[in-house]
Amino acid sequence: MYRPSKIEIDRAAIAHNVSEIKRRIPQQLMAVVKANAYGHGAVEVATIALENGATMLGVALLEEAIELREAGIDAPILVMEAQFPEYAGVAAKHDVILSVFSAEWFEEAKAHLGERPLTVHVKVDTGMGRLGLRTREELDALLEVADDRFVIEGIYTHFATADEPDSALYHEQQVRFDRLMDGLGSRFKYIHTSNSAGAIRMAGEDVPYNLVRVGIAIYGLYPSSEMASFYSFLRPAFTLKSKLMQVKRLEAGQTISYGATYTTTEDEWIGTVPVGYADGWIRKAGGFAVDVNGNRCPIVGRVCMDRFMIKLPRAFPVGTDVTLVGGPVPIDELAAHLETINYEVVCQLTGRLPRHYV
Ligand SMILES: *Cc1c(COP(=O)(O)O)cnc(C)c1O
Repeated sequence: MYRPSKIEIDRAAIAHNVSEIKRRIPQQLMAVVKANAYGHGAVEVATIALENGATMLGVALLEEAIELREAGIDAPILVMEAQFPEYAGVAAKHDVILSVFSAEWFEEAKAHLGERPLTVHVKVDTGMGRLGLRTREELDALLEVADDRFVIEGIYTHFATADEPDSALYHEQQVRFDRLMDGLGSRFKYIHTSNSAGAIRMAGEDVPYNLVRVGIAIYGLYPSSEMASFYSFLRPAFTLKSKLMQVKRLEAGQTISYGATYTTTEDEWIGTVPVGYADGWIRKAGGFAVDVNGNRCPIVGRVCMDRFMIKLPRAFPVGTDVTLVGGPVPIDELAAHLETINYEVVCQLTGRLPRHYV
């Protein structure tokens, strides 16, 4: 690797988060590693999670599940996004669990299955308004049509507001799910409803469900600022680092970057950092401040495709470390600056930034 910019992933932090979450909940733990483990590296995170108490993995795409299988991971994997029925055979071949929510899907999938049965979890929409069946009639029809080419192993729903402490919808969704399931609980080996926020909220409560799907928390991040107090045991694992490539002194009145939006007002030390919007370090990061040797240094001028400029308090040698995200630069601070959530920050930094495991 020649470029000095990299994302460092702290393996010990992920191991700590997974085992501390597992210690707090009686349910089985599914580690959600979709989207390359929220940018942390799917194979690496899945391996660490399985070593520290997770027993199942969750992904969004069949491609993501197959990547894990090809890396030799043999734990159960649930694909949570819908897949077209023509890929039922591919999923069965790789022993991957699909999410389904209609009788028609089973009818169509039958033509695409060979010898191996396909394992599925039924997805129920109790108020998220995206994927899933909504009525008991749909559920009964689905159970009716599935023959022995399918193993209906689980049923689940997803909360829209688990990260809001006083949400009425959260409780309403629980009630709808229980009502829809009434009398059917024993048909499913796994019943699950909770993401990170839900899992931690209900930690210690006597709920009948036996599996939770935890994503953001295993990376040491909070689902929302309201949830931070529940999560003080977490350790973030993600740091984006680079190095100063050029440091120069500009006199007053000089402009910086495209559009000449920044003008020096005095003699200023300006450093360039080789990370840009092609890495997912988007132009909106302009005006944020990164860390150089314990100094928060503001980004000046527009972020370019491959680099950006910062104002330094004094001269620093070329090669000095710069921390863009993590450690002294809390990820939630960047998320707030970008008017988004930490989830989006870790997902948007591209594969052009190599991941290093420390
Ligand atoms: C992504 C996802 C999760 C994980 O959510 P976190 O908030 O990251 O814990 C759980 N369930 C489903 C269905 C998801 O799509």
